[in-house]
Amino acid sequence: MAYEMRFCPNCAGTLAPIAQMEDSGEKVRLRCAACGWTHWNNPTPVLAAIVEVDGKVLLARNAAWPPKMFALITGFMEAGESPQEGVARELKEETNLDAHTVTLVGTYEFLRMNQVIIAFHVQASGTVRLSPELLEYRMMELQDLKCWPAGTGYALADWLRSRGREPVFFTAQEHQEWRHGLVQPKETS
Ligand SMILES: [Zn+2]
Repeated sequence: MAYEMRFCPNCAGTLAPIAQMEDSGEKVRLRCAACGWTHWNNPTPVLAAIVEVDGKVLLARNAAWPPKMFALITGFMEAGESPQEGVARELKEETNLDAHTVTLVGTYEFLRMNQVIIAFHVQASGTVRLSPELLEYRMMELQDLKCWPAGTGYALADWLRSRGREPVFFTAQEHQEWRHGLVQPKETS
């Protein structure tokens, strides 16, 4: 859920849409008339991990998601850490796995949430113990992975291409079902 900024974090004045000249020309943003503070509303970086353990990719289901919707491990960065450190920390916190290599796959837009996804391929090992944030996980063979048409799904597709595999995307129908929790990835073990 997205919140609207209403008050100035500097002086607690009321924020209002105010036009002002910026480098790119006149721009209306939420600003504080009292102290001049501007709500830039810049996108927030989000870390995503394509986690590979023994040649399989871990997909997990967030407790806040619909049933049977599995995707990549994601999380926000903490102040003072690099993206690579952040992804290793998130992986440990959420799955108990230890990251050995953390390699950038790419950056992806997530306009709806005003986020930028920074996606990594992470080779990891250990015993999976999920945090309460995650309900269940699947270890997927590469040939069984299906990509979804959104930021982290495009990251997965690019990574599969880098491994010499042409990614298979959900059809529009399958994507709707996935988003509404009706599709479960097939697990092979
Ligand atoms: Zn203010």
